[in-house]
Amino acid sequence: MIKLIFIFFFILPLLTQDKYTKLRNDMVKFQIEDRGVKDKYVLDAMRAVFRHELVPASHISQAYNDHPVPIGYGQTISQPYIVALMTELADIKPGMKALEIGTGSGYQAAVLAEIIDSVYTIEIIKELGTSAADKLKKLGYKKVQVKIADGYYGWKESAPFDAIIVTAAAEHIPPPLIEQLKEGGKMIIPVGHPFQVQNLMLVEKKEGKIKTKNILPVRFVPFKRGKE
Ligand code: SAH
Repeated sequence: MIKLIFIFFFILPLLTQDKYTKLRNDMVKFQIEDRGVKDKYVLDAMRAVFRHELVPASHISQAYNDHPVPIGYGQTISQPYIVALMTELADIKPGMKALEIGTGSGYQAAVLAEIIDSVYTIEIIKELGTSAADKLKKLGYKKVQVKIADGYYGWKESAPFDAIIVTAAAEHIPPPLIEQLKEGGKMIIPVGHPFQVQNLMLVEKKEGKIKTKNILPVRFVPFKRGKE
């Protein structure tokens, strides 16, 4: 009996953990490094976050696949490569403060929290925001601040931010977000019409001026609008 209890509570969890560690390492190698992402902080973070704990239980077998996964309420957790690419482009380095718009599953926020202590994330769908906040706490990302609101207006009380990552496709770059970007800061945002191909854009603030660069075509869920 004691042997059985030992196997059940100690050996089995270790074996399943190993399975996910391998899936994570393979994800980073074949989906992310092989496509050119080089930032060591990003690669380490992507190897560390338990993505399978952040997707719905019904989709756990797809957690490390090379595509987005539904998370309910018509939303998706982004493809791992896109999360890595956006984090690399935002140039996240220890000591920085970052804002994410579109908490969703909490995955992007967890990736940021592996690198930096100050992570702010806003979700417009209450159920997703509260579920992500719970899961992030359980996984040990206790410092991540989650707010339920329309991210269009950013998070004024905690601005300015070194980096802003927007994970829903907006038809234009929200001016409040540009305002809340630090001098020298970077924003990465998909811009374009809902349900069409959008452009992933890198926005930089230099000497008060805004410089934008198109990175690649992407397909994100639409940026919703709510009350201020
Ligand atoms: N970053 C998420 C991806 C979520 S998909 C992850 O890692 O899982 C995009 C999310 O943006 C959805 O959850 C959607 O509800 C949210 N969203 C859309 N418009 C928003 C807005 N105006 N403010 C905040 N969140 C928004």
